[in-house]
Formats: sequence, structure tokens, C-alpha cells
Amino acid sequence: MEIVDYVAGEKEKLKNEINRLEIKPFFVIIQINEDEGSNIYIKGKIKDAGEVGIEVEHIKLPLDIKEKEVIDKIEELNKDPKVNGIIVQLPVPEHINEEHIKGAISPEKDIDGFNPFSKFIPCTPKGILDYLDEEGIEIEGKNTLVIGRSSIVGKPMARELLKRNGNVTVLHSKTKREDMERYVASADLIVVATGHKYLLDHTFTYKEDATVVDVGITRIDGKIYGDCEPGLPVKLQTPVPKGVGLLTRLSLLKNVMEAYYHEF
Ligand code: NAD
Repeated sequence: MEIVDYVAGEKEKLKNEINRLEIKPFFVIIQINEDEGSNIYIKGKIKDAGEVGIEVEHIKLPLDIKEKEVIDKIEELNKDPKVNGIIVQLPVPEHINEEHIKGAISPEKDIDGFNPFSKFIPCTPKGILDYLDEEGIEIEGKNTLVIGRSSIVGKPMARELLKRNGNVTVLHSKTKREDMERYVASADLIVVATGHKYLLDHTFTYKEDATVVDVGITRIDGKIYGDCEPGLPVKLQTPVPKGVGLLTRLSLLKNVMEAYYHEF
């Protein structure tokens, strides 16, 4: 199924489910920046939540706020039973330690999955796994390749694939081209998240029944490109745009619901 249709169907199901709930799920977004990208992401999260009936509060804190004051605010929200989830929209100002902030969010409310003890799978890997399940793509015993090792995509993706008994290989910016060719040629599933336009192109050899999940987003002259050249000779390749970005946004809503039901 196309990702757009899958996401629309899942959102419809969430909307019907939330419609029946007397107390609505509710999360808080804390923003401590004037970043244009963050403004766009926050707008998207509020819109998505509104479409399914989840309530959101957007708290903007002053840029010169002290780290301790941010942590006090997070702790207040941690204790508030009305709040199901808490997001701190990154980046935070330089004088605030990002790790301290991530660590302050209660693991039961960390719907982004950024706290190392979070009960939640970060939204991008979670969205990918749910979609692979929907498509009936097996992971156990399969050669799964993750290209990119960031803490929000590559590493948690590799961890989740390993949990599902995939044979997991992780490549990164120091991997040699000839080695990448070898791993790509034998992979059943490739998840690529580098931000390198068309890193995987037609010069590589692929298994014809492989699945390629393209996470990358590169903006050039107002146009968006993925990490993969379109039309690779594989069984399934996710599009960019209207691919993993939609899955990621859906997962945030699902994590809010898990937090609401305490499904962990
Ligand atoms: P990051 O910059 O933190 O990490 C990039 C990773 O790619 C690094 O681990 C690096 O080692 C690896 N890498 C870079 N160049 C490489 C190369 N030539 N060969 C092999 N590995 C290489 O990025 P990130 O936060 O993981 O995001 C990666 C991409 O995915 C970006 O384009 C980002 O915009 C996009 N992204 C999309 C979504 C979504 O929802 N669609 C979510 C998160 C990230």
C-alpha cells in the first residue's frame, strides 16, 4: 500500500478511537529556540494531533532561560497526571545541555524516545517498522542494512531490527565505497538515513526482492531529494517526499496513545 494511503487509514482509526474517549490524550511541546525548521515541525505536530483529536499545548520559553528552570518546568509536567507526553523541540540554546534536558523527561512521557531510558521507540524507526509490518516484510533472519548511525535514526533502527532477529549491519560516513557495494548487494532490507542526496543510485547492485527505506531529506533550490535515486531495481522503495516523513509523524500520535494507555 502507498504510504500516503496507509497513513490516512491509520489516522482515521485513531480519530475514531479518540472520539470515543471522554478524557482526550494530551501532550506538551516545549520550544526554546527561534528556529524556522522547528516552527514548521511544531506546526505539523499540532496539525496532526488536531486532526485525530489529540490535545496539545505549545510552551515557548525565553532563549535566556536557565537550564535549571527548564528542568523544573519538565519536572512539573512529569508530575502532572493530565500530561501524557512531553516533547522538547531541539535545538536548545548552547548554554543548555541537551542531554540533561532529554534525561529530565520521564521515560513514561518521553514520546520522542530520546531519553536513553524511554519507554518509546523513536518515531522514525517506529514508523518504518510499523509500515514494514503492514507490508508483510520479514526481518527475522534477513540481511538488514542500516546506513547512518545517528542517535535518532540509525542507532535505534539497528537496535530494533536486532530485537526482531535481523542480521544487522550498520554503515556510516567512514565506510569504504567497495564495502558498501558488497553489503548493499547482499541486503534484503536497507534503511538509509544519511542526508546525502542519491547516495544509493543505479551504480550499485541490489537484490531484486530487496526493500529500500529512504529516510534522507536534502533540500536543494526548494526541491526535496532522498538518499536514494528514484526507480531502483528492487521490490519496494519508499518515496521522498511523502514517505518516511509521514510515517514519523504518524508514530508520534501512536506514541501519545501508548503513553495515554500506559502501554509499556
Ligand atoms: P545525522 O547527520 O545525525 O547522521 C547522518 C549519518 O549518516 C551519520 O551517522 C553519518 O555517519 C552517515 N553518513 C553521512 N554521509 C554518509 C555517506 N556518504 N555514506 C555513509 N554514511 C554516511 O542525520 P540524521 O538525523 O540521522 O538524519 C539523516 C537524514 O534523514 C537527514 O537527511 C534527515 O533530514 C533525514 N531524516 C528524516 C526524517 C523523516 O522523518 N523523514 C527523520 C529524521 C531524519
